[in-house]
Amino acid sequence: MARYTGSVCRFCRREKLKLFLKGDRCFSEKCSVDRRAYPPGQHGQGRIKFSSYGKQLREKQKVKRFYGLLEKQFRLTFKRASQMKGIKGENLLQLLERRLDNMVYRMGFARTRREARQLVQHGHFRVNGHKVNIPSVILNLGDVVDVREKSRKMDLVKDSLDAAERRGVPHWIELDRKEFKAELKVLPTREDISMPIQEQMIVELYSK
Ligand code: SF4
Repeated sequence: MARYTGSVCRFCRREKLKLFLKGDRCFSEKCSVDRRAYPPGQHGQGRIKFSSYGKQLREKQKVKRFYGLLEKQFRLTFKRASQMKGIKGENLLQLLERRLDNMVYRMGFARTRREARQLVQHGHFRVNGHKVNIPSVILNLGDVVDVREKSRKMDLVKDSLDAAERRGVPHWIELDRKEFKAELKVLPTREDISMPIQEQMIVELYSK
């Protein structure tokens, strides 16, 4: 499967916004957005004027990179959101939040979404007691994710749980740290996503 292997800090600098793609480093003074708050590349420090298409594109790229998806997966998620009842943009954000890799990150079992994705692919988690290694699985209300017995000793998981304690677990998740498990208590709503996103622009972009 295709995956991006270049620098992820470029993405944040491009959007001039912290996308929190590197765990603890994002909260330190080493963060590239804090040190060089202008887009990467030769013309990064020049004046950039976006057309309305350009603004829509940037919005889509920002969300796609925040959740760590490539174009094809993102478009498929949008298609699925369009087929659901309700507001397309909000459906899209809710589906992205409910992906297993995102939930593993939100639950505190990984320091970044990228790390969460890899841990899921390597089969370290169970959903409702069954081993699942597909990061794009969408969780439903009441689903329980736990770390498999033999993976509980991993320093990476323990360190991630410490980091999660510092940053706080969202209210829609109930984490049982002792048992290495967490439950999706409430489906996240638009208000629960604090990242500045204008999802309507993504809908407009894909509706052209
Ligand atoms: Fe983005 Fe984190 Fe890199 Fe800062 S350290 S630029 S927030 S990925």
